[in-house]
Amino acid sequence: MRILLVEDDQMIGAAVSIALRDAAYAVDWVQDGDAASSVLSLGEHQAVLLDLGLPKRDGLEVLRRLRQNGDTVPVIIITARDSLEDRIKGLDYGSDDYLIKPFDVSELLARLRAVIRRKGGQATPQLSNGTVTLDPSSREAIRGQTVVQLSAKEFSLLHALLLRPGAILARGELEERIYGWNEEVESNAIDFLIHAVRKKLGAGVIKNIRGAGWMVEKSA
Ligand code: CA
Repeated sequence: MRILLVEDDQMIGAAVSIALRDAAYAVDWVQDGDAASSVLSLGEHQAVLLDLGLPKRDGLEVLRRLRQNGDTVPVIIITARDSLEDRIKGLDYGSDDYLIKPFDVSELLARLRAVIRRKGGQATPQLSNGTVTLDPSSREAIRGQTVVQLSAKEFSLLHALLLRPGAILARGELEERIYGWNEEVESNAIDFLIHAVRKKLGAGVIKNIRGAGWMVEKSA
């Protein structure tokens, strides 16, 4: 799960980046509105944390253009502007949620999980294909009687697959979901992660579709 953080404050940006990485997200961080708009046009992120007071282009303008382009990626506005007018504008322009600085990181993470879940059409916090269940708040995976704790990257891998049971994800698609720009990806990194998840949850948990990629089965 890959998040775009748009924040020009160095201290807040660094703190939020670290918290997101600790919570198993891949994070890309940009610091002005123009950079945000051009990165968002690539559609590489599953959610956006957006400051409003930004150099070059205001956060509300970034949001307005994003929605104008028909992009439905979940957006949480994080800002010190607590005026009612800005909050209403943010929601009217199509943000999914709104957090006033200073905020508690655990609240930010909970809201992030909620908007991603709603985007995926999931009413419950757990992701499941009927045989394996993943709890995003604890990073635990459950298969039959087995309950295991996944590492950040193992979690991201299984999460990407469980968002779309039955869909085949190619190596490049998985890498894009799991790693940020500044992370070096070894050519066999995905194989290692799949091996690790299978070791914890059983070989059948992830199916290899020869030459195409990997999937988790859709429940019957
Ligand atoms: Ca700012």
